[in-house]
Amino acid sequence: MMGIAENILKLKSELAEGVTLVAVSKTKPNEDVLAAYEVGQRIFGENKVQELAAKYEALPRDIEWHFIGHLQTNKVKYIAPFVSLIHGVDSMKLLKTIDKEAAKANRTIPCLLQFHIAEEESKFGLNAGEARAILQSDEYAAMKNVQLCGVMGMATYTDDEAQIRREFAQLKKIFEQIKDEFFGENESFSEISMGMSGDYPLAIAEGSTMVRVGSRIFGARQYH
Ligand SMILES: *Cc1c(COP(=O)(O)O)cnc(C)c1O
Repeated sequence: MMGIAENILKLKSELAEGVTLVAVSKTKPNEDVLAAYEVGQRIFGENKVQELAAKYEALPRDIEWHFIGHLQTNKVKYIAPFVSLIHGVDSMKLLKTIDKEAAKANRTIPCLLQFHIAEEESKFGLNAGEARAILQSDEYAAMKNVQLCGVMGMATYTDDEAQIRREFAQLKKIFEQIKDEFFGENESFSEISMGMSGDYPLAIAEGSTMVRVGSRIFGARQYH
């Protein structure tokens, strides 16, 4: 197996121009993050609040930490002071909490709306109607400390490439519609976070601007 540095460099050389690489370091030790950092990687993704906060404390301050998992409202406060992008906003309640905690930290937190595009029941995410309800609400209009920057989604875990492409194409379409309807010329709504180790080439072909890749960089994860 190749090392982490080689994996990062190879992956970066394959990514289409304008596609951001989020190196998903969940469950991996700080040395692994540093191995990627040393070849220039600065954006890392984590899906557990405690692990993210511990890595933030221990690792270089110019790392941009993305939260990519399901975020519980009572834990937002632990990452609000430093998180660079929250990928998984899937309810008004969560968005309101992020706004409140961002205000306390005296900053604006960039967020992505997570959509349910997979067939599987278990995955979190909004549908287009639920997203519209949030975006049209007075509560959202009153928020000053969150900035919605785009959308995020996960395709079904399957070998059926046509199905994966359909699901990514659907997310791209949702992105275009929401951008047209609610953000107009506002260029800050620009990110489509889709694609993981198993499906990132398909995601890029369907318009991804941000891929979240873990095991292809750091190796398979072991859960204890
Ligand atoms: C773990 C995870 C990834 C990375 O998965 P790999 O298959 O290891 O690349 C991407 N996105 C989310 C939301 C994840 O939880």
